[in-house]
Amino acid sequence: NNIIIVYITNLDLALADIMDRLSINISSAAYEIYFVPLRPLTSIENKLLLVVPRASQKNVLEKSYIPAIKKAMAECNSFFTDVSIILESEADKYYISVADNSALTAESSEDTSIPFIKSYTFDNFVIGDSNQMAAAAAAAVAETPGTIINPLFIHSRPGLGKTHILHAIGNSLRVNKPALKVLYTTAENFTNDYIYSIRHSKNADVMRNFNNKYRSQDVLMIDDVQFFEKGEKTQEALFHIFNDLYSANKQIILSSDRPVKNLAFLDERLSSRFASGIIADIQPPNFETRVAILEKKALSYKINISRDVIYYLAEKEQQNIRILEGMLKTVSLFSTLNQKPANSVDLAKEALRDSAITAGDNITINSITEVCCAYFNVKKEDITGKRRTKDIVEPRQFAMYVITMLLPNTPLATIGEYFGRDHTTVINARDKIGRLSNEDTRIKTIIGDLKNLVINK
Ligand code: ADP
Ligand code: MG
Repeated sequence: NNIIIVYITNLDLALADIMDRLSINISSAAYEIYFVPLRPLTSIENKLLLVVPRASQKNVLEKSYIPAIKKAMAECNSFFTDVSIILESEADKYYISVADNSALTAESSEDTSIPFIKSYTFDNFVIGDSNQMAAAAAAAVAETPGTIINPLFIHSRPGLGKTHILHAIGNSLRVNKPALKVLYTTAENFTNDYIYSIRHSKNADVMRNFNNKYRSQDVLMIDDVQFFEKGEKTQEALFHIFNDLYSANKQIILSSDRPVKNLAFLDERLSSRFASGIIADIQPPNFETRVAILEKKALSYKINISRDVIYYLAEKEQQNIRILEGMLKTVSLFSTLNQKPANSVDLAKEALRDSAITAGDNITINSITEVCCAYFNVKKEDITGKRRTKDIVEPRQFAMYVITMLLPNTPLATIGEYFGRDHTTVINARDKIGRLSNEDTRIKTIIGDLKNLVINK
């Protein structure tokens, strides 16, 4: 039982192992562009589902790197043997709830339009001080689209309900105003569509399809507009579509992970359009709202969980509801696999102990280095200093290796800087320790110890 749990709750670590292997065989440019952004989503038996933010990254990974990833999995004796790459904006479709695996069967349809997620409704959306304004604006839009609130621009940090609200509007319109044409898309999806139509511009049908598709909507929603890239053409196409829809009193809804004024890459005339209607932001929810959200999620996933545990979780994660939900699922899965009821805080702590989700916040370059110093009994000044004697070099290399494993998104140059060295020193340390760990059980044991110490600190 425990082994399964370690793998499931430690997807981050599993990926770090695989990445570490991959980095040896892949050029550092490709590694930075395509692999560094990868995040683990979930797993289905021996298949690891990874998400990337951009469609271009997904395409390249799928076309060129699947065999390399599988090979790396085999080389590091990973539990996983297969991989799927998923676009971040579509990740919700694949998120397995413990009670309901049916989400897995969702497949993107031919016409690249994204279906509404059934569970993202207004009914399932808990309203509190932090999101009241956005929820009210969204409800008004769903009631009378294309009238007063146009465009509606919702922004918040990640994981606070933007996508949920957009889908809630879509679901509500499907039921209450079925005659309206409603399209939900993401900035990446829109960009891809546009690029495709440009590439095939010799075929007039393709271009016409693109224009028809977006201009014929009564309600157009574009999620995550922060992913539009500097590049005039896509933005220009959107600008014209926006104007056409707007002047025909069609509803436009946009979401972003930052305020309009921070979308520097947006063409001025486009950002002024985005900001011309109602702007609603969502703040992190307060304690009561977090509790209410957890209770609602527990109910809909049919998770039996005690008040105490809910309070514990709500206290533990305050910034991101997606993470909060992940913790709830982890605890629930842990209790199911161990056949213990999810009613004690101790059980929740145990379930979350190995979880990189919760550990993520307090693991830093510095905290890892401190653990290594304590483990090898060396001073921090020495490990970050100039000395090159073996008693210092080895701990330093382990520290660098563990940092690259546990903080795979930290630029190598940043790690190097901490130690007063450049990124090539970090690469050498990482590759050397990584190589040795496969041949030398002593090294392997030290790495295991260090990882555990860091994660359970
Ligand atoms: P964003 O798009 O802002 O990154 P999402 O809409 O994907 O965030 O929300 C992340 C998760 O949190 C989703 O599962 C969503 O259902 C849930 N969530 C966010 N806000 C609420 C809320 N107020 N009530 C219920 N669930 C919420
Ligand atoms: Mg979102």
